[in-house]
Amino acid sequence: MFLENKVNRSNNQGWIEVVCGSMFSGKTEELLRRIRRAEFAHQKIELFKPAIDVRYDEEEVVSHDANSMNSTPVHNSAEILLYVNIETVEVVGIDEVQFFDEGIVDVCNQLADSGIRVIVAGLDMDFLGKPFNSMPQLMAVAEYVTKAHAICVKCGRQAQFSHRLVASQKQVMLGEKDSYEPLCRHCFNEVRELEENVARKAIPPASPEDC
Ligand code: ZN
Repeated sequence: MFLENKVNRSNNQGWIEVVCGSMFSGKTEELLRRIRRAEFAHQKIELFKPAIDVRYDEEEVVSHDANSMNSTPVHNSAEILLYVNIETVEVVGIDEVQFFDEGIVDVCNQLADSGIRVIVAGLDMDFLGKPFNSMPQLMAVAEYVTKAHAICVKCGRQAQFSHRLVASQKQVMLGEKDSYEPLCRHCFNEVRELEENVARKAIPPASPEDC
C-alpha cells in the first residue's frame, strides 16, 4: 500500500507519483483513493482528465467499479496549467494520462517543481503491448511508480496486458469493458501469435490472373 508524504507548500518540494497498469488493474481506483485521502487532510485538490475520455461522464473521473469524483476535462497538457493556481493548490490528479500530448511531462515537472504533489494514472502499454505515449518518460521522472496488475482471465496469474477483443488498429480506442481483457505475458503472447496467424491466412496469395 502506498503511504503518502505530507505536502508542505512552504518549502516548494513537490513530487510526481505514477500509478500505471493494464485495463482492469484498478489504477483509477488507486488514484481516487489517494485523492480522497488528500481531501480528508483538507488539501486543495485539482483533478483532470483528457477531454477525449468521455466514456461515462463529461466531468467525472469514473473507474470501472463506478467510483467517481468531479474532474475538469482538458484538451491538451498546457490547459492544465491554466486551471492550477500554484499559490494555493496542493495536489493535482490526472487520470488517463497516457492520452495527453508529450508536453504532459513538462507540465507534471513544472507543477512538482512549484511544490505540488502530482498524482497521475494511466495505461503503461497499448493493446499491442507497446509503451503508451509519454508513460515511459513520466515513469522515469516520477519519484514514485506503482504498477497495478489485473488478473489474467485465461489462467488467473497477474495480468499486465490489455488485449483488444475487437478488430481495430487504432491506438486510441476508448476502453469499454467488453472491448478488452486483461492477460498475463504468457497468455497475451499465445493469443497474439494466434491472431497474427489468422491475419496472415486472411490475405490470399497473389494469383497469376491478378498480374
Ligand atoms: Zn494468463
